[in-house]
This record gives sequence, C-alpha cells and structure tokens, in this order.
Amino acid sequence: MAAPSFSGTSWGCLILVLLLYWAHVCLGVPDPHVRARLMQEEASRRTGGRVLLTESEQKLSERLHKLKEQEIAGPQFPPMMHFFEAQPFIQRSPIFSLLQRMPKGAALHVHDFSLVSVDWLVKNVTYRPYCYICFTKDQSVRFLFSAQQPLPRPQCSTWTLLETLRAKVGNVTDLDNSLIGNLTLFTADPGAAYPSQDMVWKKFEQTFIVTLGLVTYAPVFKEYFYRGLQELYMDNVMYLELRALLPKTYELDGSMHDRFWSLRTYQEVSRQFVADHPDFLGTRIIFTVHRGLNDSQVKEAVKMAISMQKTYPEVMAGFDLVGREDSGRSLWYFREALSLPVDLGITLPYFFHAGETDLQGTEVDGNLLDALLFNTSRIGHGFALPHHPVAKELSRKMGVAIEICPISNQVLKLVSDLRNHPAAVLMSEGHPLVISSDDPAVFGATGLSYDFYEVFVGIGGMSSNLGTLKELAINSLRYSSLSPQQKEEALALWQKKWDKFVVENSQ
Ligand SMILES: [Zn+2]
Repeated sequence: MAAPSFSGTSWGCLILVLLLYWAHVCLGVPDPHVRARLMQEEASRRTGGRVLLTESEQKLSERLHKLKEQEIAGPQFPPMMHFFEAQPFIQRSPIFSLLQRMPKGAALHVHDFSLVSVDWLVKNVTYRPYCYICFTKDQSVRFLFSAQQPLPRPQCSTWTLLETLRAKVGNVTDLDNSLIGNLTLFTADPGAAYPSQDMVWKKFEQTFIVTLGLVTYAPVFKEYFYRGLQELYMDNVMYLELRALLPKTYELDGSMHDRFWSLRTYQEVSRQFVADHPDFLGTRIIFTVHRGLNDSQVKEAVKMAISMQKTYPEVMAGFDLVGREDSGRSLWYFREALSLPVDLGITLPYFFHAGETDLQGTEVDGNLLDALLFNTSRIGHGFALPHHPVAKELSRKMGVAIEICPISNQVLKLVSDLRNHPAAVLMSEGHPLVISSDDPAVFGATGLSYDFYEVFVGIGGMSSNLGTLKELAINSLRYSSLSPQQKEEALALWQKKWDKFVVENSQ
C-alpha cells in the first residue's frame, strides 16, 4: 500500500495541528512559543507578509505604524466614515501625505470619463465658446458644443449658450456649483441623498450622461485625457490601464469621428505625455461596452475589439463589460458573444468586472466563476469573492488578481465601514490584489492615494505595514497587461523611485 502523500501546505497544517494538540494537552496556559509561532504563521500569509524589508524600510514601516496607532486612537477615524465626510480628515492625515508621495505603480481599474476632477470641466471647459446647455425634466442638464443653434432634444429645454446664461443670471458661482453637482455624486449628506443602492446608481449613471456631451467634443476629448494622465502622474502613478467606452466624438460643425479615432487619440496623447514625462510608462486600453446591451450588440463589440487589437496591438489590452451588475445582463447571458474569439482561434484578453454585488446566490453572483471560466486576466471588484471558495481558489491558482476599489464600493453602498470590506479577508490570505480608484472624479477623489489610504489604514488595520504597500505597488505592475520585458523595465524604474521614497521618508 502506498504511503499517504502530503503537499507542502498539508505538512504545514499537520505541524500546526500537532503544535496545538501539544499546547492543549500539556499545559493549562498555552505555550507562548506556540502562540508566537501561530501568530507568525498568520502574519506571513498576509499581503506583504513575506516581503523582507531593508533597514530603512523597517524604519519607515515603524514610523507608519506609530502614525496609524495615533490615527486609530483619534476622535475621528476616517475609514469608518463615508468618504465624502472622511475626505477632509484624510487630507490632514500624515499617512495620506506619505501615501501621496509613495510610488504606487499602476492604476489598473479606472474609467475613461471619471479621470479628471470635475472642477476643471465646469470652470474651464464650460467657459469655452460655443458651449450650449439644456435642462431636462428630471432636474439634470445636457451639454453640447456647436457652431450653430443645436436641434432640440426630446425631454430637454431649448439649447442656450452658457455664455448668454451666465451673463443673465446674477450669481455665476451658484450656477457653476449646480453644474458641478450634476457631474459628481458628492453631497454633504450622502446618507440622506442616497438612501439605497438604486438611488445612488441612478445618479451615478446620470453623471456620465451629463459628462458625455462635454468630453466627446473632440478637442476636449484630447485635453481631458492629457489632464487625466497628469492627475495620476502627480499622485505618483506611472502607468494606466483605462477602461474606455471609446465613444464616437464630434467637431463644432457636427461632423463625427469613429471609435478607432478615439483609440488612436488615446495612443497619441499618451505618447505625447510620455515624451513630456519620460518616467511615465504610458497607457493601454480595455475596450468596454455596457452590459445592458443585447447579445448581438455585444457580439459586434467583441468583433470590434478583435479588429482594434489587430490594428493597434500596442495600445489595445482587451475587453470588458461595464454598468451595474445587479441590473445588467450576466456574463453567462453573453456566453456566445464572449466565446467568439476562441471559436475564431484568437486570443482576446478579458478584464471582467465581476462580483460587484451583495445579491448572494443570484444569477449575477455567478459572474465571478464565469469570469474565470472565460479566462479573465483580472477581476474588477470581486467584492463577493470571499463567498465563493471555489472561485477564490481558482483565481489564486490562475494568478488572476482582484482589483479592489474600496471608495467606489462604499459610495455605491456595498459596505459602509471600510474595516468590514471583504478585501480584509483576501488581504489576510495574501490573495493576488491590486488597488484602484474606479471613478475617482465622480467620487470627488483624485489619483490612487485615497484608496490606498482606506486599504492601508481601514481594511488592513494594524496588520498592514510597509511590506503590504510594497507588495500592492509591485502587484500593480506584475498583474498588468504589459509584456514580460516591459514589466521588468517597469519594475526596475519603480524600484528606483521606491528606494528614493524610502530614503527621503525613513528619517
Ligand atoms: Zn469599474
């Protein structure tokens, strides 16, 4: 009879069980050595738990530890507050200011029209000539640039030049603030304004429709993206993978550019940005369509993604479906469309949003497993992953990183106190993770530092240290869609920036 075989993990577990048994049987008070051994075992499994820190890194880690102790003991603990209320406290936090200076690697989950602070859209873009506005019946607005008086739209008032409107109204500041209110979710009392997920999602999707009229004007489209890269760069982010709808764009005379123009423009603007900032690595695009589309529309979109990949392989990273999972169609519904590339013998990488839900056991809840079955490269959100042991195991084995976007999950009402975010479980197990910001402009955030703050201080609590941050930053490059050689170069550049950051902040 063959002797039973044990894998490395099984041996580890066996030793732990024997240690526990011995501690329990032999002593009334558990052996402190056994206790220490078990605590060490837990610590080593966490994200960053096996990262060896240099002497300077240890110093910085201790500094962060002390700052975090003070922050937790303070009267206001930002991670337990709604981000809109927490933001001023976070801005005053010395940990936040360190995180802003920290080289964070890549932003891997950000959407195209929530890249740039909305202040710029209102205070700069809407002040340009030929900017028209109309008011909808549901208290919203639409924008359009046009050389002539635009044709009326259903459910919207007559188009008025903003220039004329501003000259008429007494208080321009009030008007601008109300426009800002149409472009973000920010409000002083989010609990009252958004009592349910349905309410917050309604306003969320509405903000994108309002934004669209401004950012699909071709000259603004280019500038918007350059500014978006600038905001990331200022926050010490060195590379972007953008989820992009690649909409048609328009000129002042009403002529249109197709989706390929948008893709090409992203490539050109990104190249220009890299030329101006050589320590920025560039952008790759994940083409996205709304999950409210039907099967044949998604089939067309997949075909278009294949064609874009063929024409622009350098910038085109893959495909994803966006929009609220709970009310949209499931990945399984689109199974024929999504299997098209394999049927054609083509590899089209997927980067699916999946598990951004708390509807356990529903069809939507199946998206996580289906994303993995469709060989997704990463998973957007994966909020429901801890409820799916098989999907969790598969994602770890396949090296599919979860893109954690804590502020987004909180604002869209999946969790209120961020200490209870399910990523705490994934972090404690060292699951492959990256941190991103999803729709920073709509949430009133910028860059990645706010989300890193919530992860480091709230989700990780006192268990996370500089090793955690280091691993998360490295992960963002490791799990990117860059080629192995590009990853190596990116990691070498990041390491230089990191070493400088550690030296400058460990004293
Ligand atoms: Zn997203």
